[in-house]
Amino acid sequence: MNEEVYVNKALKGIGVSSGIAIGKVHLLERGKISVDKYSIKEDHVEREAQSFRNALKGAIEQLSTIRQTIADDEIRKHTFIIDAHMLILQDYLFINDVLDSIRQRKINAGWALDIVVSKYLASFEKMEDPYLRERGQDIKYIYERLVRILVKGKESDIHGKGLKGRSIIVAHDLSPADTIQLNLSKISGFATDVGGKTSHTSIVARALEMPAVVGVGNLTSLVKNNDTVIIDGEDGIVIINPTPQTQKEYLAKHEHLKGQRRDFLRIAKLKPETRDGFRVKVGANIELLAEMDIVERYGATGIGLYRTEYIYLSRKTLPTEMDHYHIYKKLAESKVLEYITIRTLDIGGDKFASTIEVPKEINPAMGLRAIRLCIKEIPLFKSQLMGILRASAYGPLRILIPMISGLDEVRTAKSVIRECMDELRNKRVNFNKDIKIGIMIEVPSACMISEVLAEEADFFSIGTNDLIQYTLAIDRVNEYVSYLYEPLHPAVLRMIQRTVEAAHKAEIEVALCGEMAGEPLYVPILLGLELDELSMNPYAIPRAKKVIRGLDQDYCKDLLQEVMSKESAKEGEILLRREMSRIFPHDFIKGYGE
Ligand code: PEP
Ligand code: MG
Repeated sequence: MNEEVYVNKALKGIGVSSGIAIGKVHLLERGKISVDKYSIKEDHVEREAQSFRNALKGAIEQLSTIRQTIADDEIRKHTFIIDAHMLILQDYLFINDVLDSIRQRKINAGWALDIVVSKYLASFEKMEDPYLRERGQDIKYIYERLVRILVKGKESDIHGKGLKGRSIIVAHDLSPADTIQLNLSKISGFATDVGGKTSHTSIVARALEMPAVVGVGNLTSLVKNNDTVIIDGEDGIVIINPTPQTQKEYLAKHEHLKGQRRDFLRIAKLKPETRDGFRVKVGANIELLAEMDIVERYGATGIGLYRTEYIYLSRKTLPTEMDHYHIYKKLAESKVLEYITIRTLDIGGDKFASTIEVPKEINPAMGLRAIRLCIKEIPLFKSQLMGILRASAYGPLRILIPMISGLDEVRTAKSVIRECMDELRNKRVNFNKDIKIGIMIEVPSACMISEVLAEEADFFSIGTNDLIQYTLAIDRVNEYVSYLYEPLHPAVLRMIQRTVEAAHKAEIEVALCGEMAGEPLYVPILLGLELDELSMNPYAIPRAKKVIRGLDQDYCKDLLQEVMSKESAKEGEILLRREMSRIFPHDFIKGYGE
């Protein structure tokens, strides 16, 4: 436990979502909680029994508050799960089992709970019926809630309900699901010990426009609740207990960024076209339906990537075909967007949903993720595809298949889509039979056979977050290797170039939808590579448009040649920064001490 009080202490992390936030720290315990196990004296038995009863009461109170505060009608339909959990918490047999264990074995409440729950779980695991077996998961949730209360006296409050004023979440790590639950009216930013720029948690932070810094090292051990911190998501800095002077400087930076945003909204309306007339589509990447309004305001041509995993992460039961349909229909009905690309489920890697069982893997990024999981769990895949197809009758939807590593996967995915089409035809349901089916190029093998894959796909979308991860062998959620994340690495540029050439030879379009697309510095390179679409976080669109409109494509092609002739990413970046700060003196700094 740290007792030292830091003043104006600046720590460097990775800025993953721009903006400045200043507030009081709200430390959040995440990850596995361990139960202390110890024997107790006879005269402490009743005290332990009482603390178990208090924990039960606390858990019931927490659950009923959660049930009352669910605002979303869709989610409210599923509150029966919360009811089921409350019933278990009041179950006479369960309560007595734990109390008997405390009294007879003379052990603390946490240990007794652990023994009883392990016994129940073992019985559930033996059940043949998969549905009943799955109910063991409910017991685990209840166990975790009770243990949190026993260990901490209260549950870590991700919603910031008990908070006065707006706070900053500080946690060792946050999952993407944690992040989408952050209460925007109570939480103004977050910082974590671990994490990387292209982790899905960081992507969600950008979607929510919440200033965030990840990979700060041992931040959680340096701050205490109620310390004041500044989060500078622009430069990746966290300042603990800033002096009044520092706070003043950051408030000025905050105002400056706000002013910049106003200018961007003006630019958002302009066409994404270079000075010599090359028109590139500027798409938006979204995670939540609620972002549609921002997408339209920030001037996207279409949606280049809808990460549908968040539909699964934000609910306790699997979405049905009709759940999918209603969501995609809302997207399809946009009057402004030229196309809407729905990526099929990409769960696994760094995203997990409690409703989808995936094996515990040593290396989930290379495991049963995305299309691999969908091909194994065909009903899961089909319910989403049927939803997309049904909604395709209402607007320009496209299907995008993630994590393709070889031709068979594309063929299998397409045959499942055909089966879905047949079923809908039999049911006389309308859908777009010519819906475009694209694939993500994000595994190096897919890039190397892109000319073969181009014959099977209607379009490509290059996912550089994963392509860089797999090409350079750097785990995208690991801050220790994030310095190796180099979009300008010659290997990465050659892969993109190869993919674009293959696509254009087969006369199909190719987009780039990794985080690289939203970095203004890389825009000239991507224009030089002749990508047809750049798809990015919607807030990044105006800045990208500004850069596109200030360049000539011919110049970009020459610059690309020069950058590609460099032997390392560092040399390429120096050249690129020099050029961009020359052309846009107010928007780019030279960098690398020039
Ligand atoms: C990518 O890999 O670049 C991509 C866009 O997909 P995701 O970040 O969701 O893996
Ligand atoms: Mg990816």
